[in-house]
Amino acid sequence: MTTGSSDVVFVGGGIVACLSGYLLSRRGYNVTILEADSLGSHASGFAFGGLDPLTGVGMPEPLLEFSLWCYGRHRGLARELHDASGIDVGFEVRDRLHLAFTDDEVRSAKADIEWMKDVGGFHVEWLDNFQAREQEPQVSQEIAGALFEQSPGAVEPYRFILAAMRAGERYKAEMLQRRATGLITDGERVTGVQLENGIINAGIVVLAMGPWTGLASEWCGVDIPVTPLKGQILRLRTSHDPLKLAVNYSHSYVATKPDGLIWAGTTEEESGFDNSPNPAARDSIMADFLKMIPGMTDAELLQQTACLRPLSGDGMPIVDKINGWDNLYVATGAGRKGILWSTGMAQVLCDLIADGKPDVPGAEHFKLDRFPAKV
Ligand SMILES: Cc1cc2nc3c(=O)[nH]c(=O)nc-3n(C[C@H](O)[C@H](O)[C@H](O)COP(=O)(O)OP(=O)(O)OC[C@H]3O[C@@H](n4cnc5c(N)ncnc54)[C@H](O)[C@@H]3O)c2cc1C
Repeated sequence: MTTGSSDVVFVGGGIVACLSGYLLSRRGYNVTILEADSLGSHASGFAFGGLDPLTGVGMPEPLLEFSLWCYGRHRGLARELHDASGIDVGFEVRDRLHLAFTDDEVRSAKADIEWMKDVGGFHVEWLDNFQAREQEPQVSQEIAGALFEQSPGAVEPYRFILAAMRAGERYKAEMLQRRATGLITDGERVTGVQLENGIINAGIVVLAMGPWTGLASEWCGVDIPVTPLKGQILRLRTSHDPLKLAVNYSHSYVATKPDGLIWAGTTEEESGFDNSPNPAARDSIMADFLKMIPGMTDAELLQQTACLRPLSGDGMPIVDKINGWDNLYVATGAGRKGILWSTGMAQVLCDLIADGKPDVPGAEHFKLDRFPAKV
């Protein structure tokens, strides 16, 4: 049974696919996005939504320029998506403190400041204990100091993916709630996608299945080194004043979100495709949260979420045409940065499909063949 046909079929409907679908449909492509579950039901809908282009994998080399490009694009895109979809993605600029407690953490923060201070558009400086607590009076008195970062931002991930999909729909992109089970091929061409119940014909297929993309290696005979990295977040209610700044410590963070709740995260767990919340993660996030903001002992846990990040072999995105295939592409692997990087990854993919080469700085680092082929 044929379900239909499309110029471009995405397997997976996370933020990377929805944003790419919007860009391609705006350029006149007929786009179908296959999503096994519902829109935003995985990491793209449940992420924290921080947009910090100065931290994380690949900083400052080789991804700083790419990250800054992505951040800049979020600013314009927030308006563009609002106009196209009527949905406010909640883009905001919010200063951030990265807390340091030990001598080693102080040394590492000061080393980061050395290169960060030269990045245009972001004021970064070292604050001592007193200065840091002037900025955010609720942080721990035990800190040695903090790296202060002016102007990183945030979006609300669920609204962001909803807006991207609605904006695409305006240009006739569509989402089908279907699970893909394989590819239909003819020589070196992919002619369609096999669904649990039916097939869809395709001019071009993009594998954008987030942490599940590695499973498609068997479909195309090319290793796609992406694995799931679980992360959890707590949503808490407290009687204390909202936090003025976002606060980070090590791999954890906390902020007051637009829903009025404190969101505290996170974990990095290698537990396969198990995406259930667990008490050990709750306790470790609570410990880091109270280390950062010790006064909020009344915080009441309202919700604990757990999702899987798509982690590539080196932590950097994979956005490429797959070698050996005329019309098969892959876009995944953004790990902890997929909300920030989605704007750049979508543009790279759109450029590759429409123009044959990407016009986004850093895109040369996203090739699939940087990983040795598995025999
Ligand atoms: C706790 C946590 C906090 C985070 N915080 C941030 C943050 O603050 N800032 C930031 O930039 N990033 C953050 N991230 C990372 C970000 O959420 C991810 O990198 C990003 O959402 C990945 O998007 P994606 O489109 O690649 O994949 P996903 O969102 O995983 O989407 C892939 C989709 O493919 C579908 N799918 C899979 N297999 C099939 C199939 N066979 N057929 C059809 N559909 C299929 C899945 O159902 C899923 O919906 C966070 C992640 C987590 C877990």
